[in-house]
Amino acid sequence: MPKKTLEALAGQPLEGLRALVRVDFNVPVKHGAVTDRTRIDAALPTIAWLRDRGCRVILLSHFGRPKGGPDPAYSLAVVKPTLEAALGTPVQFFEDPTSEATAAATRRMPRGAVALAENTRFFPGEERNERALAERFAALGDFYVNDAFGSAHRAHASTEAVAHLLKPAVAGLLMAKELAYLGDALATPTRPFVAVLGGAKVSGKIDVIEHLLPRVDAVLVGGAMACTFFAALGLEVGASLIEPDRVEVARDLLGRAGRKLVLPSGAVVAQRLASDAPTREVAREDVEPGWAVYDIDRGTADAFRDRIVAARTVVWNGPMGVFETPPFDRGTIAVARALAEATIQGAVTVVGGGDSAAALAGAGLFGSVSHVSTGGGASLEFLEGKTLPGVAALDDL
Ligand code: ADP
Ligand code: MG
Repeated sequence: MPKKTLEALAGQPLEGLRALVRVDFNVPVKHGAVTDRTRIDAALPTIAWLRDRGCRVILLSHFGRPKGGPDPAYSLAVVKPTLEAALGTPVQFFEDPTSEATAAATRRMPRGAVALAENTRFFPGEERNERALAERFAALGDFYVNDAFGSAHRAHASTEAVAHLLKPAVAGLLMAKELAYLGDALATPTRPFVAVLGGAKVSGKIDVIEHLLPRVDAVLVGGAMACTFFAALGLEVGASLIEPDRVEVARDLLGRAGRKLVLPSGAVVAQRLASDAPTREVAREDVEPGWAVYDIDRGTADAFRDRIVAARTVVWNGPMGVFETPPFDRGTIAVARALAEATIQGAVTVVGGGDSAAALAGAGLFGSVSHVSTGGGASLEFLEGKTLPGVAALDDL
């Protein structure tokens, strides 16, 4: 069911209304300072949209994993200076978003002002999705906007329960973009539709393969994941990272997928994982004991590139090799470049997964694909065809 987005409210008088916005400010912090602003920047369009219309903006987010109570180490106050710099305006900080005083304070905010509330996980009802806590949150706004796609797979008071209490409850601009790409684009893809899957583990992505197989024209498999499939083919995998308890599932998938599931024909192998270790390119049948697969070989990279460039819709999740340790980043970079190339040719290209996004950024290609999902776990669940509670609770269009 398509969801109502912020833009659907454009025709309504919003001047002076309090917008309660769930954002994802779960940012990396070191020595008391935010080290990566990406998630804050991602929330700016929604905040600007609301301020332009004279709304008062109250931001809610979780931050880290405090153990069910206030913990200064996880105070969202750490984000305030970075947010103020990004917005170019002072931000009011509410230490206790559940208090009457805070609800009253939101009513005194000037139009266009922005406030940030303390870490939602300081309140035990948050992760239990408690109605009582959601009622306290709901008292902070006149309508609800969820822009935290990365948290939408969790039914928490600030993502799920509150959306039932405060109406309208709509998707923010970032959330709407995620839904458009991961939802619509992949549900009704222009063909050929190719999925590229990699990463360390097959276990976390079996449901993705299951869900995508009937929908795609091909699934290209790389990364350590491919090694579990090699083992399922009865090949020697040497010291490669495999999941022995998933070999049977992999064999079953191979049997059912037929030619749709495309495995690497060869690999880059080494005897240890280090940039200065001697490497060899071998056919997948020729991995020797003591050697481990750390990347797809050039032939596979070329073959994957050809499939990707010929596609009209591409979804990529998971690196092709240990891209953190060059030269084992080559296959991953080749895939990143192929996605960029496909995008130029008009394909819809979607990247999900934190490591894949990092690899894309490392190759200088972050802006060269149609969409990079901000939600690791949430985008995977989307690709598994699951309903995300934080999305389901929003108003239908
Ligand atoms: P994403 O975050 O994009 O979803 P994953 O977390 O599933 O990706 O997997 C990323 C990890 O997989 C990386 O740390 C990478 O080093 C690892 N990986 C990829 N290929 C291999 C391999 N052949 N052997 C060991 N690790 C690998
Ligand atoms: Mg990862």
